[in-house]
Amino acid sequence: LSGDDEHLSSSDREVERALRPLSFEDFAGQQKVLENLQVFVGAALKRGEPLDHVLLHGPPGLGKTTLANIIANELNADIKITSGPVLEKPSDLAGLLTNLDEGDVLFIDEIHRLNPVVEEYLYSAMEDYRIDIMLDTGPNARTIQISLSPFTLIGATTRSGLLTSPLRARFGINARLEYYDAELLSKIVSRSCGILDTPIDRQAAFEIARRSRGTPRIANNLLRRTRDFADIKGDGTIRIDIARMALDALNVDHDGLDEMDNRILQTIIEKFKGGPVGLSTIATACSEEAETIEEVYEPFLIKEGYIKRTSRGRQATEAAYKHLGLDFGGGAEA
Ligand code: ADP
Repeated sequence: LSGDDEHLSSSDREVERALRPLSFEDFAGQQKVLENLQVFVGAALKRGEPLDHVLLHGPPGLGKTTLANIIANELNADIKITSGPVLEKPSDLAGLLTNLDEGDVLFIDEIHRLNPVVEEYLYSAMEDYRIDIMLDTGPNARTIQISLSPFTLIGATTRSGLLTSPLRARFGINARLEYYDAELLSKIVSRSCGILDTPIDRQAAFEIARRSRGTPRIANNLLRRTRDFADIKGDGTIRIDIARMALDALNVDHDGLDEMDNRILQTIIEKFKGGPVGLSTIATACSEEAETIEEVYEPFLIKEGYIKRTSRGRQATEAAYKHLGLDFGGGAEA
């Protein structure tokens, strides 16, 4: 459920598109980030200059892509969207950059996964709006310089720690998105229901919100599935009992942890005596990529106080034992 939009069916994708906020006004939460961005966008518009390059970081599903689109909208600019792993060669990047008009936005998702050679080309593009392309090799080698229209790069990353410092230094605006509280997610769920013309009561909206791992994408995903339950098992209105039935059926537990969250906690506690245990060991035992655990699952489990990061690895907390109905007894430190 915490997966990307890429895996959605076409009807889900349509719904997803309808639910995506298009203006700063529709975007819930992240108030500080929003207030700052509004000032910077307003100033850029007033001066008729391109907006400084923006780096957005935070766990998946918190609204980085949405914000990039909103920024472009608010700048009355076009946006071209790509991602780090897609840009394999410098010519892929050059192709995109030379097609930008003045003031356009280039959005690079997963920018921490850029090929280092491609990244190098990005530096002069960001700094001086030009790229030097090497033609030929050996004795015929020469470079030609191409000037670009002034543009704004918006980079998104789940792992700002993996960004090289030369790249990081070239972003004038740096914003970190935080997990949403249940109150805010509940507003997002209600707004989505309005758009989908699906009646929902407040208690049900809050239940979905509370069990969405602080993540709007998950809240909307759970809402779509709960709506299916309401249509088939109920009268179309999402009430608390339908919401609970749907969430249980989707294996979202009472604290909002999904199957993988629970498997990670169980692994640390049952296989490794509560830890500390290294990330790659956990990953192997859970049959999941270490990177996914680190980017998607762990930040939420740490934030909710179920695991701790120590110098010797990850450790389950008392809350994790309690969550699984196990006796803590001082844990591994005892
Ligand atoms: P990210 O790029 O960080 O992975 P997205 O921008 O793709 O996240 O957001 C996932 C979905 O969650 C969006 O399609 C949007 O519908 C919803 N969403 C994200 N942030 C908000 C928000 N602040 N208010 C309302 N909906 C949001």
